[in-house]
Amino acid sequence: MAAVVVDGKAAAQRIRAEVRERVRLLREKGLIPCLGVILVGEDPASLSYVTAKAKALEEAGMTSRDLRLPADTGEDALLAHIAGLNRDPAVQGILVQLPLPSHIREDRVISAIDPRKDVDGFHPVSVGNLVLGKPGFVPCTPQGVAALLREMNVPIAGAHVVVVGRSNIVGKPLVNLLSRRDFNATVTLCHTGTRDLAAYTRQADILIAAAGKAGLITADMIREGAAVIDVGVNRVPDPAAKKGYRLKGDVDFEGAVERASVITPVPGGVGPMTIAMLLRNLAQAAEDWGAGGSKALGDKSPGDKSP
Ligand code: NAP
Repeated sequence: MAAVVVDGKAAAQRIRAEVRERVRLLREKGLIPCLGVILVGEDPASLSYVTAKAKALEEAGMTSRDLRLPADTGEDALLAHIAGLNRDPAVQGILVQLPLPSHIREDRVISAIDPRKDVDGFHPVSVGNLVLGKPGFVPCTPQGVAALLREMNVPIAGAHVVVVGRSNIVGKPLVNLLSRRDFNATVTLCHTGTRDLAAYTRQADILIAAAGKAGLITADMIREGAAVIDVGVNRVPDPAAKKGYRLKGDVDFEGAVERASVITPVPGGVGPMTIAMLLRNLAQAAEDWGAGGSKALGDKSPGDKSP
């Protein structure tokens, strides 16, 4: 029997409606959540992500402060911009669009963001809180995957989850999130060093592909009735398409849909959830701010080099 195809856009709309309501309450108190967005260079994919995020923020009643910097911006200049946003009480969240040009050290930049404004959840403090099971910002894509599974009533507790891909933004935080007591899954993490990938993926009750390799997961690698979440977004050349390419996931959708019980499409699956979770993290940051959680503006924040 063919799988149920998850409508990520509809699920994201429900979360965005919840966020709009939280923002309405914040605005009644005079607080308009604002995201500081830094984009270095003109990578077309990054530009389109930043534009989509700005539109989503506006729809949710929030605002953004965009800093578009040239590709040759130096690391210290970028750090100074981050320090400015850290200090700015009108900005409750900061997002530096990745990837950064190769002359800038990504880890230095991420570490410079005030953890209280780290709505992407990439700061070492946020990573540590996730690993320790403490409250803190969780990266948006892993949160979106978990929310989609819950939306689809896929049982997570006790399930064997196999994650393919160990990046710091998707694979690793997913493993830490889903193995936490509140999700209670048993998680296996695969990567390029995994011998016989299919032997693992076939054991998955929930298979999450986040490798960035179009069509890596074929139907024969999926257990009959598994839930399949495709995080991958790959541009594959297509002369018939207007842009000359089309988007494909890491999963061979046509084959997988015949074996899985639930499957996410690309596009229209995990992608819209990622943006919805960013909005939710910003609402959270603003609520914490309003409640005084981030009131200590006099405190030195990590990226703050001011006297
Ligand atoms: P990444 O940093 O390139 O990491 C890819 C991971 O996959 C690495 O850990 C790599 O292993 C592993 N991998 C690659 N080929 C493999 C193979 N043949 N077998 C087993 N493991 C393999 O990518 P990422 O940033 O996590 O992104 C992954 C994909 O998700 C990309 O297509 C990206 O565009 C997409 N994405 C989508 C969203 C969304 O909102 N939908 C958000 C973020 C990312 P090694 O560590 O051994 O190299």
